[in-house]
Amino acid sequence: MENGAEMEAVGGGCDGARAAVLVAGLRRGFASGRTRSYEWRAAQLKGIARMIDDKEAEIMAALHDDLAKPHMESYLHEISLAKAACTFALKEMKRWMKPKKVPTSITTFPSSAEIVSEPLGVVLVISAWNYPFLLSIDPVIGAIAAGNAVALKPSEVAPATSSLFATILPNYTDNSCVKVVEGSTPETTALLEQKWDKIFYTGSGKVGRIVMTAAAKHLTPVALELGGKCPVLVDSNVNVIVATKRIAVGKWGCNNGQACIAPDYILTTKSFAPTLVDAMKRTLEKFYGKDPLESSDLSRIVNANHFRRLTSLLDDEKVSGTIVYGGQQDEKRLKIAPTLLLDVPHDSLIMKEEIFGPLLPIITFNEVEDCMDFINSKAKPLAAYLFTKDKKLEELFVKTVSAGGMLINDTALHLANPHLPFGGVGESGIGAYHGKFSFDSFSHKKAVLSRGFSGEAPARYPPYTPQKQKI
Ligand code: NAD
Repeated sequence: MENGAEMEAVGGGCDGARAAVLVAGLRRGFASGRTRSYEWRAAQLKGIARMIDDKEAEIMAALHDDLAKPHMESYLHEISLAKAACTFALKEMKRWMKPKKVPTSITTFPSSAEIVSEPLGVVLVISAWNYPFLLSIDPVIGAIAAGNAVALKPSEVAPATSSLFATILPNYTDNSCVKVVEGSTPETTALLEQKWDKIFYTGSGKVGRIVMTAAAKHLTPVALELGGKCPVLVDSNVNVIVATKRIAVGKWGCNNGQACIAPDYILTTKSFAPTLVDAMKRTLEKFYGKDPLESSDLSRIVNANHFRRLTSLLDDEKVSGTIVYGGQQDEKRLKIAPTLLLDVPHDSLIMKEEIFGPLLPIITFNEVEDCMDFINSKAKPLAAYLFTKDKKLEELFVKTVSAGGMLINDTALHLANPHLPFGGVGESGIGAYHGKFSFDSFSHKKAVLSRGFSGEAPARYPPYTPQKQKI
């Protein structure tokens, strides 16, 4: 268990000196060697799984305080995914930890070769506010499964969840090697000044650049789980009822659009747009009723800054007259209704930055191929979605569109498959996690070649006589 000075460093705010004490404590914990054993890793993961079970009601309540997140969403998208990540790691970890034998080559004959996964050491996880439980605990699970000591800095923008972590995680894990540090920019800056063996950051590209700059000073590797504008291309041959339900649940059913993989905008053909808009309106009314501001199935906007950021996208005169559904707002309760905008100008603010909220622009082109060109002319998104029955178009989309991940005929679900890597490309991030990819993200793959004392090749050794050089 923890000594007094290090506990104080966590509980009493985190300036440079306290951050240094904290990291030194973690380094001592890691140097003891205990985080490397399977037993330690399994005990921590079992502790986390127990914590999730014991504290489910408190976690739900914190998520409701922070975001008015509907309980069903909290359960499906945060609690059950976190539990699944824990269970999967517990089931697979022994196999992941095993050295992997690889073939040898004639040059090294005779020898044996293997790849040994070793923990990186002492790692920092900085997480974001929109899925404040899952985005914090999921990388911590990966860090522990890989045998690291870890510090978690949850987002101050979701204060109830952050404070819950600080209260409960130490009761379920070895707190000489697993720590929670609460705080905002000053505390994170103090942490970033320290030398870590990996920094795993989830959040905006703007702060991602700050993280990477700080990491560069110590040559620390980073994983940056960032965002971007996730497009949805809808072909005219789709089952429009199913398509609009799946788009709506990936947008408004994911934290009211405040999700990194939520659809950011729709692309479709001019001729199909009226059918799509009509179906989308009917779906939205079915999901959230005639007065969506009163629906308890929609999260609120996280805070007043984000509320104003979103309403300013609607106030942009370039989009005036483009709202075809929704638009209602209530600043006091930080609520914005699901809003559809049709044919917004490409240079409007809403098309320039990640929306991260309940507004959904629809852009139209004459042909689906033009839609793909549009996606490819923009920064690479975290996710790209296609709805079509045309297998040729599907193939072309997979082959030509670059994105962190993609999903055909649905949205967001790909993140729930632990066999798939989850991460961005280009502006949407560096590195990936989930399942074994989490383990790999926090491991060094050490190349180990082993030889006996036979099998000498004289030509290797000087003097390089003319006779040897004939070989
Ligand atoms: P945020 O404001 O919660 O910031 C993320 C973290 O960075 C927090 O822990 C915060 O304390 C820290 N931080 C903020 N400013 C800092 C600074 N100047 N110096 C050091 N640390 C600082 O979250 P956000 O950035 O608003 O998150 C939203 C973004 O995150 C969106 O772009 C979204 O797409 C992306 N996101 C990505 C994923 C993913 O898995 N790829 C998941 C969720 C969110």
